[in-house]
Amino acid sequence: MASSTTAAPTRAAASLQQQQQQQNAEEERLALLSLLNDVVSHLPNNREEAVKMIIPWLGMLVWPLIVSLPLLLSSSWSPISYQDLFPAEWYEYNPMNPSERPKPLGLFLGFVAVAIGNAFVIGFAYLYKFGYLSAVRGQEPPLIQRRLLANDYEFMEAVKAHLFQPEGFVLLGIYLASMWMFKLMPNSYYSFEGGIQWRETFLCLVLQDGFQFIMHRLEHALSPRLYQLSHKPHHRFINPKMFDAFNGSLADTILMILTPLYLTSNVMRTCNVWTYMAFGSTYSCWLTMLHSEYVLPWDGLFKRLGFGTPADHHVHHSIFKYNYGHLFMWFDIVAGTYRDPRDLAPKLFNPHV
Ligand SMILES: [Zn+2]
Ligand SMILES: [Zn+2]
Repeated sequence: MASSTTAAPTRAAASLQQQQQQQNAEEERLALLSLLNDVVSHLPNNREEAVKMIIPWLGMLVWPLIVSLPLLLSSSWSPISYQDLFPAEWYEYNPMNPSERPKPLGLFLGFVAVAIGNAFVIGFAYLYKFGYLSAVRGQEPPLIQRRLLANDYEFMEAVKAHLFQPEGFVLLGIYLASMWMFKLMPNSYYSFEGGIQWRETFLCLVLQDGFQFIMHRLEHALSPRLYQLSHKPHHRFINPKMFDAFNGSLADTILMILTPLYLTSNVMRTCNVWTYMAFGSTYSCWLTMLHSEYVLPWDGLFKRLGFGTPADHHVHHSIFKYNYGHLFMWFDIVAGTYRDPRDLAPKLFNPHV
């Protein structure tokens, strides 16, 4: 008798559980169908639509192009090698021998590598700004800030100022030429052996940005006089455009770029010439693109990785006290000085940042 009274509720519970499981399975099936539907609805229907989907991603090609010269001259797969182009006496050099002078070829190729990288960035900036890389031909990309007209400038004038202002590439060139020719670089930097050391390239970028973060914070915090003399001119851009990156003052470049460069090369003492070229070109091009007035195609991915985006740097130009890092936001996150650009929307920034 007792067993039949307990068996009935158990059977009812089992049937209820079975019903629940069936319902869950049905819900999962519907969710999967809806997801598949969503994916299919986003697939291109024809060639024109496929091209429209691919074009915005073509801008990503600028990254490998930035390091094209060291890649081409030093990679084992490349059809061209520095050994085919230059006689051995142009690059063979023993830094341990005090009577030998450094050969200028490595320095010259370094300048050419940075020039080629920057030429690709300028080409990308032109195509991007004027809508050639947009899904809708001619459509301007999304602006970061709402205030002022950062996009209203003469393109070629801005490029000229970017390339020839004395505190930019001119000062960087003088620094690198002096360091190279006076044997002030660590010995490994004069070596042409091997290809680009990617791990070292990345570590150089992280170290450079770490030192730059410290110098940047000091410029802001140490004394109002130091700030005025060094960094204030760069802060006249509260809504910068891509070509304002190196526009500041000689003191600012010495403190915030050259000092970190000196420290980075002295900490990273195993880089070869190709690695330093890849680092220098990536660093200068990334710093330029960080000042873009537009959201860039790869910003979503960079943000997830904690890499700096133009919107992150616009936060610094806009409200000064946050985002002192440039290439990486990790230093600000650790120091508690990171501010998400979305916090400034919709008042100062556009909602898509
Ligand atoms: Zn800046
Ligand atoms: Zn600043």
